Amino acid sequence: MAEFFETKIEFLKGVGPTRAKLLQEELGIFTIGDLINHFPFRYENRSQFHRISELGHEEGFVQIKGILTSLGLKGQARKQRLVAEFRDDTGSLELVWFKGASWMLKKLKTGLPYVIYGKPSLFNGVYSISHPEIEISTPNSDSKTDSFLPVYHTTEKLKRRYVDSKALAKMVKTALNLASFDVTENVDDYLLQRHQLITLKAALTWIHFPEDQKQLSKALERLKFNELFFIQLKIFQEKSDRKDKHQGIIFTKSQLVNDFYTNHIPFELTDAQKKVIKEIYADLQSGYQMNRLLQGDVGSGKTITAFICMLIAISNGYQTSIMAPTEILATQHYQGLAEFSDLMGLRTALVTGSTKKSLKNKNLAELQNGQLDIIVGTHALIEDKVKFHNLGLAVIDEQHRFGVAQRAKLWSKNDRHYPHVLVMTATPIPRTLAMTLYGDLEISTIDQLPQGRKAIKTSHLTDSHRLKLFGFIKKQIEEGRQVYIVYPLIEESEKMDYKDLMDGYESISRAFPNTPISIVHGKMKAADKEWEMKRFVEGKTSIMVATTVIEVGVNVPNATVMVIENAERFGLSQLHQLRGRVGRGADQSYCILMTGPKMSKEARERVKTMVATTDGFKIAEKDLELRGPGDLMGTQQSGVLDLKVADISTDGELLKLARETAREVIESDPKLERSHHHKIHAYHNRDKRHLLWSNIS
Ligand code: ADP
Ligand code: MG
Repeated sequence: MAEFFETKIEFLKGVGPTRAKLLQEELGIFTIGDLINHFPFRYENRSQFHRISELGHEEGFVQIKGILTSLGLKGQARKQRLVAEFRDDTGSLELVWFKGASWMLKKLKTGLPYVIYGKPSLFNGVYSISHPEIEISTPNSDSKTDSFLPVYHTTEKLKRRYVDSKALAKMVKTALNLASFDVTENVDDYLLQRHQLITLKAALTWIHFPEDQKQLSKALERLKFNELFFIQLKIFQEKSDRKDKHQGIIFTKSQLVNDFYTNHIPFELTDAQKKVIKEIYADLQSGYQMNRLLQGDVGSGKTITAFICMLIAISNGYQTSIMAPTEILATQHYQGLAEFSDLMGLRTALVTGSTKKSLKNKNLAELQNGQLDIIVGTHALIEDKVKFHNLGLAVIDEQHRFGVAQRAKLWSKNDRHYPHVLVMTATPIPRTLAMTLYGDLEISTIDQLPQGRKAIKTSHLTDSHRLKLFGFIKKQIEEGRQVYIVYPLIEESEKMDYKDLMDGYESISRAFPNTPISIVHGKMKAADKEWEMKRFVEGKTSIMVATTVIEVGVNVPNATVMVIENAERFGLSQLHQLRGRVGRGADQSYCILMTGPKMSKEARERVKTMVATTDGFKIAEKDLELRGPGDLMGTQQSGVLDLKVADISTDGELLKLARETAREVIESDPKLERSHHHKIHAYHNRDKRHLLWSNIS
């Protein structure tokens, strides 16, 4: 395969140097292999024709046979568009070209029969398709044999040089029909047989030209399997390597946990918390270095769970750290932990960006000489000058805010051993995503909220009901409760957003003249933010007007109302995080999503989901469905899930199969040395793609 796949594209019949250059520049296709790996992004079912009168809402792509009845340029010189009327027996619709309008005008003629293909949308009662595919209708247009025509991504530039989807299909067909077409199989036979997967050669042929749905499904299954399997193989191999390389510190003592349990703990732990502590304790005694992801919905009590694990490390004479993404959160953790650790005679310190230099130096010196047991901090903790005496357990809260590299730096803070690592996240990650993304982390889940929590009541109000909202807030404040009012802050529209925030603050101040109000936003100095936040935490103010800086972690049990302004502009997981700021005490809490009257379909879905459920896992699944996995993890890791054919929001079963298979292979043959794995081995070694997340541990 190597040779065939690496043949330069210009040597393929019908390509030549000029087109080859275009293909390289526009699509990154350099070789025949690249061309074959340029899969169709959809298929046209050319055996079916739609009728204009039967088009419905949100139809998707349709194919229609009809006649062009009018054709003309509209608009100003530079921004001319071509508008055509297209009719079949049942009605008419509009075709529009914004690009290449005059070129299309020359190409098309009124009065002739055409077949068009595109996605209609409804404007003022008329269906319109922009940039449809269009060609003269011939008797061939009816043929049933080509019922799956591949459609490839091309660019405007390529299309203008006649390299459209059709031309690409022809090139692919030429390549596949060459006598020299060959594919090196990369999964060993016994696995193909066991899972009834087709050969790679068949898959690469059928993905382009399936004769029927079944061939297409088999081809997709095989290609998706490959994609997922080799990722999982890498994950398991690294995990197995790490177990060889990195011994874990063994913690056998736990006297401080007993002390905490008998004398200090303020409430009964939930069963889920107990279960997780057991899982972690088992890791800490196993002799392997722990890399564990602790996920639990907002308010599920991850902090105290982590604290108990830290007590295990300290019982064994080791230091522990807890790192949080914001100063407010680090401070809150510090205050929460210090309350208990003081009682227990442990020494705890806080180090953030705004810690005074003299105090910081003192803390760091004590950290290095071993006087400190617990250090709490922000990113400041990973600076080079922060040195531990003996770090035994590193806890990272709200991990999605930290980059992989930042995490890796923390690991190297211990000379003798890697510390055990506990990463906590309040953004529940759907199982499938977790498997792909954190495949080499063990996962513990707190799937239960502490008893006595009342489910937060969520409702949706449009701006016209603001008086009703104010009335409700007033009542809650009279009952002694506190209220958050949150505004979005999206960088591109920063100015507008600040205006919204300040306008909001003013109108709230006017509506609640005798109520103390806090305001916190990103443009304030850190110290001012802290001060305002502190006033709210201590109950000195009743309303907190803020941007999303309060998103993560803050704990004010007396706050019972979360108003989210312009809720349509927030993502689902952000809405869920914000809502998680209330419902932390014994009182009934409320979340009110304020939106304008007009919302996109997706925004409406998000609001609907929020009103319907408080289950973080359901919300995460929905988020994955609406946004796609790359987006979900934010830019830090978006390159990670560059999956070409597989879609982890829908291919969960296949992912499981790929994962189990990879696990078995590595467990039975960690170095892939056995002869029945030589195909996998050869491919795995060639596959030099450096995957970011492989460095998570
Ligand atoms: P999160 O998982 O979102 O970080 P926290 O650790 O901040 O949640 O806990 C939320 C609140 O619940 C805190 O006030 C904490 O003291 C309290 N809490 C934690 N565990 C329990 C429990 N088992 N019973 C009652 N309250 C608890
Ligand atoms: Mg937390």
